[in-house]
Amino acid sequence: QGKHGPTGVVVYEPTTARPAAHGLVLQRELHDALERDELVLHYQPKIDLATGRTGCVEALVRWQHPVRGLLPPAEFLPVAERSELIDALTSWVLRRALADYAAWTAAGHDWTVAVNVSARNLASLDFADLVAQILDESGVRPERLQIEVTETALTFDTEIAEGVVNALAAQGISIAIDDFGVGYTSLSQLRTLTVAELKIDREFVLGLTDNEHDRAIVRSVIDLGHNLGCRVTAEGVETQQIADWLVAAGCDLAQGYLWLRPAPWPEVASLATGREEP
Ligand code: C2E
Ligand code: CA
Ligand code: CA
Ligand code: CA
Repeated sequence: QGKHGPTGVVVYEPTTARPAAHGLVLQRELHDALERDELVLHYQPKIDLATGRTGCVEALVRWQHPVRGLLPPAEFLPVAERSELIDALTSWVLRRALADYAAWTAAGHDWTVAVNVSARNLASLDFADLVAQILDESGVRPERLQIEVTETALTFDTEIAEGVVNALAAQGISIAIDDFGVGYTSLSQLRTLTVAELKIDREFVLGLTDNEHDRAIVRSVIDLGHNLGCRVTAEGVETQQIADWLVAAGCDLAQGYLWLRPAPWPEVASLATGREEP
């Protein structure tokens, strides 16, 4: 049943919301969800291909919606990114991830933690200060945090975005360029950014074993990354064959369903070690 807001616009109508109203409904619901702590973080390990060990886990946000169930980020991030809600969302993710970090560290796991940020977060220099403040409050050393920025986020307002990224890196935070290859990072941008890791988009990884062009691109990105002093991660690894190819090609890290789907950290902890049998 819908309720009507001051302008007569339907503001809540879960089953029949029209597309035009949908964004506003969702925006309001998401705002409330943040206050009610309905968001959750799942984590996916980045596997060190040389050792098979988990070195870092990436936080991926989900929304435990009271009616619609567990929603993937594609269902609500675009709405958050169109408004200032994304600032609150990213702050929430950082605080939650650093609290979880403290919990798994206490449980004996030495993984670092990676958090994704949006283009809009990089649009203001204040963001670097906010991250510093959240790190300070949580007592986690900046070296233990990685921030993943997409190529697209970097080209949004290049000068400010680069300033924010370099200010984060100057604090000791490690920066990864996410979805590398699908955006438009120019080589000169790679020269001016302090980047620790390139993550090859899964678009190039999924069909690697069947496509010579994908293999050529992945090989070139691995070379480029290494020549720039970066680690290179392949995302979306679903088969052993692809993993084997990546090892042979000298790729450093990999993520994918082959090892683990994103899950709450205690689950990741028991599956990642594989030593939980009685
Ligand atoms: P991403 O950062 O590129 O994350 C990788 C996505 O690929 C995740 O989807 C992950 O679940 C999925 N994935 C992992 N392994 C495989 C695989 O082997 N095969 C396939 N087909 N997919 C795999 P998810 O969790 O739905 O996240 C989608 C995107 O939403 C992320 O892409 C990221 O850009 C964004 N995102 C997620 N969490 C956050 C967040 O907390 N803040 C921000 N700003 N963005 C986020
Ligand atoms: Ca990512
Ligand atoms: Ca990615
Ligand atoms: Ca991606």
